[in-house]
Amino acid sequence: MSKLKLFFGGSFDPIHNGHILSARQLVEATQAIDITLLPNALSPLKQQQHCSSEHRRQLLELALADYPELRLDLREVERGGRSYTCETLQELAAQYPQQHIGFVMGLDSFNQLDCWRDWQKLCEHAHLLVIARPGYQLALSAKLEAWLADKQSTNVEELHRFSRGKVYFCQLQPLPISSTELRKQLATHPQPAELSRQLPSAALEYIIEHKLYGA
Ligand code: ATP
Repeated sequence: MSKLKLFFGGSFDPIHNGHILSARQLVEATQAIDITLLPNALSPLKQQQHCSSEHRRQLLELALADYPELRLDLREVERGGRSYTCETLQELAAQYPQQHIGFVMGLDSFNQLDCWRDWQKLCEHAHLLVIARPGYQLALSAKLEAWLADKQSTNVEELHRFSRGKVYFCQLQPLPISSTELRKQLATHPQPAELSRQLPSAALEYIIEHKLYGA
């Protein structure tokens, strides 16, 4: 039986179909038990949130309602302040001592990993899973490349054999959607068909009803 539990961190401001599709594909591709979305309170690398944590939570709940294999963990939102992944992974590893924790991020996030607090310690608590993102190539600093050398894996089997410490590059077919582009569209010239492709319908209705992101 699988021991792998995945956690997908992000601002989800708002959640979109790129997140959802990647999360669903990952559970299948890695044979994980489940995947939990982990919205941050405030990303250390972002200046601001574009709507309140409460609205982001509501949007996540609406978007995930149809997918029982996708879960939600609000610990970072409840902790408040800037959310540091290393702290969260340490907590998760202590909470699930029998499981293997895999923390998921897009390639754009991984390229900046050496700006994260205590980034060299992340793999002491978990595996990292890196998913492709349209428009981004691997572009690592020399120190990140050196750190990666003995951790990099393309063999999913290793996520099950080892409890932590691997950086696994996963070949998924990501969707070209970003929250930044979505917010721009909502605020400028929203096109219903295009927005429906990018957002779950219940989330889109909620955004319009509450006039979020300038919609
Ligand atoms: P923003 O445009 O505001 O930076 P975003 O679309 O990147 O937002 P986040 O909530 O910041 O969304 O992303 C959470 C995680 O999901 C990040 O690791 C990011 O790389 C990844 N991600 C976001 N969109 C996609 C996508 N379309 N495909 C694969 N991964 C994605």
